[in-house]
Amino acid sequence: MAKEYAFDYIDGISERNVYPKEEDLLKLKSFYEPLPQIGTDEEEILTTLHLNGSPNTLAQTGGRYYGFVNGGALPVTLAVRWLTDVWDQNSVLYVASPIAGVIEEVCEKWIVDLFELPAETAMGLVGGSSDASLCALTVARNTILERNGYNIYENGLMGAPEIRVVLSENAHATIFKALSVLGIGSKNIIKVESNPDGTMRLDKLPELDEKTILILQAGNVNTGAFDQFDTLCDLANEKNAWIHIDGAFGLWAKTSKVYAYLAKGMEKATSWSVDAHKTLNVPYDCGIVLCKYRDAFCKALQANGAYIIYSGKRDGMLYTTAMSRRARAFELWAAIKYLGKEGIATLVETLCRNAKTFAGRLSQLGFTILNDVVYNQVLIQYVDDEMTKRVLEYVQNDRVCWCGPTQWKGNMAIRLSVCSWATTKEDIELCVDSFKRGIEYTREKNLN
Ligand SMILES: *Cc1c(COP(=O)(O)O)cnc(C)c1O
Repeated sequence: MAKEYAFDYIDGISERNVYPKEEDLLKLKSFYEPLPQIGTDEEEILTTLHLNGSPNTLAQTGGRYYGFVNGGALPVTLAVRWLTDVWDQNSVLYVASPIAGVIEEVCEKWIVDLFELPAETAMGLVGGSSDASLCALTVARNTILERNGYNIYENGLMGAPEIRVVLSENAHATIFKALSVLGIGSKNIIKVESNPDGTMRLDKLPELDEKTILILQAGNVNTGAFDQFDTLCDLANEKNAWIHIDGAFGLWAKTSKVYAYLAKGMEKATSWSVDAHKTLNVPYDCGIVLCKYRDAFCKALQANGAYIIYSGKRDGMLYTTAMSRRARAFELWAAIKYLGKEGIATLVETLCRNAKTFAGRLSQLGFTILNDVVYNQVLIQYVDDEMTKRVLEYVQNDRVCWCGPTQWKGNMAIRLSVCSWATTKEDIELCVDSFKRGIEYTREKNLN
């Protein structure tokens, strides 16, 4: 039954409205029921979800969802998710699932190879880039303190030497969250002014030292622009600073000969975070944390207990804050095996090409393209804030596609993130038509 419902959903994905319809949203009310006192029939549970749940999803696996920076899901990765969910493996330790351990170890080698990172780089699989940055910055903090003669493991954070964090004023919200969790407050953070494309200004970089964590970004969430890793990493490495790159969707540029220039020099960083569930089109939740120093990595995230049996083989929990985890490596492995290095590059190139096509078509309609479309993000405006807001309102209600608003340099903008393998030329044309109707609607409204 689940299989039947799922096929039904997938078969209709490219025809259906991307955002739920008003009449479907009303069905959500049915879920607010009191705690069931007795159990429910299994089939009824599935039917309830299919009838009242599925119409209230965003058609994220179709080709016309451009909200936030999400990604679709390659069919093979969904299939692998299904198959391996039936296995219900815990990737905590090798002894808890040899297959999960081996596949995770293989993924580590493949990812290090794919991104051309230092051979000794270690990988952990986490829920997303938020977790990945938290893990990486934990290792960064602890390692810096230890190098400066302070035993964080014994003394904790109280009384520790000050650590400085240098980042761009456009750093992602999840970075600030991670820093706050780690006890690094706004007084310890230096925000560097940015260039017009949102990247870090080299001439505004403060002095770095061995107590500094420099946080860079591959892919600004508005413009898609990349920090100048090559130069920045050289400067930071000269001063023995720790360099973390938040590469949630951008790091994948490195895999393509056409776009690798954007990420040039990224391999000179110390740690990286990247999502498989964005650009690589693996289902949620699959984030990747990478760190050049395996021992420091495992030390910072180690847990001890009489029953924990570390094996000398791949013990996944050493590379994350979590203990029990579903085995995310299966889908990651499947995506890499299915696409191969060449296929991953092609995927990246296709997303970027679609973004450029989008920008070109929208520009013909009279939209101003606010960014240089270097990667997969397109930032548009129509005449002014008010008109832009109206067009977006129309397009969102039209439900042919979905994209969201953003603020760029004090102005309202519409942001399109082209992140799904499933987007076709036809999809783009359907969206362009919706934007065209949006302009007509806005103009009419203006006249009245
Ligand atoms: C999406 C994103 C994040 C957060 O990643 P999650 O997988 O949602 O936790 C961090 N940084 C950037 C640049 C992002 O695009």
